[in-house]
Amino acid sequence: MLPEIENLLHLQEADKEIRRLQDEVAELPKRVAAIERKLAGTQAQLDKAQAAVKADEATRRKYDTTIADLRGKISKYRDQSLDVKTNDQYKALLHEIQFAEKEITATEDKILELMLNADARDKEVKAAQAELKAEAAEIEKEKNDARRRTAEDEKQLTEWRAKRDQMRAGVGEDLLRHYERVSKFRGSGIAEVLDHKCMGCQVMLRPQTYNDVRTGQQTVVCDSCQRVLYFNPAHEMQALEPEHKRARRHHPKIDAPQAWYYRQEYGDAGEVFLCLANASGQASRRVFDMHTGRLVGDILSREGDYRQAFPEDITGAVRLNGNWSEKDMENWGAEMPMTALDSLHVDLEAAQYEMKSRPASKPETPAPVPTEQAAS
Ligand SMILES: [Zn+2]
Repeated sequence: MLPEIENLLHLQEADKEIRRLQDEVAELPKRVAAIERKLAGTQAQLDKAQAAVKADEATRRKYDTTIADLRGKISKYRDQSLDVKTNDQYKALLHEIQFAEKEITATEDKILELMLNADARDKEVKAAQAELKAEAAEIEKEKNDARRRTAEDEKQLTEWRAKRDQMRAGVGEDLLRHYERVSKFRGSGIAEVLDHKCMGCQVMLRPQTYNDVRTGQQTVVCDSCQRVLYFNPAHEMQALEPEHKRARRHHPKIDAPQAWYYRQEYGDAGEVFLCLANASGQASRRVFDMHTGRLVGDILSREGDYRQAFPEDITGAVRLNGNWSEKDMENWGAEMPMTALDSLHVDLEAAQYEMKSRPASKPETPAPVPTEQAAS
């Protein structure tokens, strides 16, 4: 391998790591902000519950005053009834007394209702207080984690940037420019050649190109995807090992209600993992950046089965093993966890190995890399 190509390979590793670290650093404050929003929501709930308790207490005091007033009136009417002259006057007073007594009973009922309500209100306040306490503890922990992770990431970033600069210095100007242009467009600028194929785009190389890469005496780029090509004899040996020596890949079920796919090109998003799922007559589609695991765009829903709803996404895509519950994926939020991302990567590698060892299937035809002017 030319030393320049080897430097490029290390450069790509550094670029990937820098991108991952930068993404992680950018993501941390967002996570803290999300918990802070949740905390504010719980605080609002608590405020509301406490305000309701206060309002109930005020109403209770108002009812107490009403009853005291009514009792005062009754005793006043009783005093007056001792001095009445006519039967009609007496009847009228008696009527007033009965009316006031009814009012007292009605108000007492309302007080009872308030007292019954008070228990429920109390529970609401206590629950909100407990939740607030738990969330406050969680946010402290998250903030500390974020601070620690950011400091670690920044340290690593400095190291990787130094490595990158060193590698860049070891690559010729023209090659470096080519690498960066393709890298920007495709997410990677250098690809391995295995079993006569470019591992970047899975296209078979012409025999002459293959030989040129294999001899390692000159810089060769893939005719299809423009990535700089390199050859690693150790990998080639491994790839040519009989299949039974490698663990057999588990095959995803054709009729599974959830299906994962890998696509090499997906609009501006580059390489992505797609998750298509059927649930209650609806098909949904999630798109994840295959390097960061971040959700790209919104979750799309369409009528019917995903095979009918999203045929354009499935055609030419690599079907992968993966199954997570809808609830799990909702909990992921905007980014799938590393464990999920890793398992998809491992399965993709296995699937690509499988495709390689099968007789040549239909290769993709990638779009040409735009010219330097158009790309920048
Ligand atoms: Zn290629």
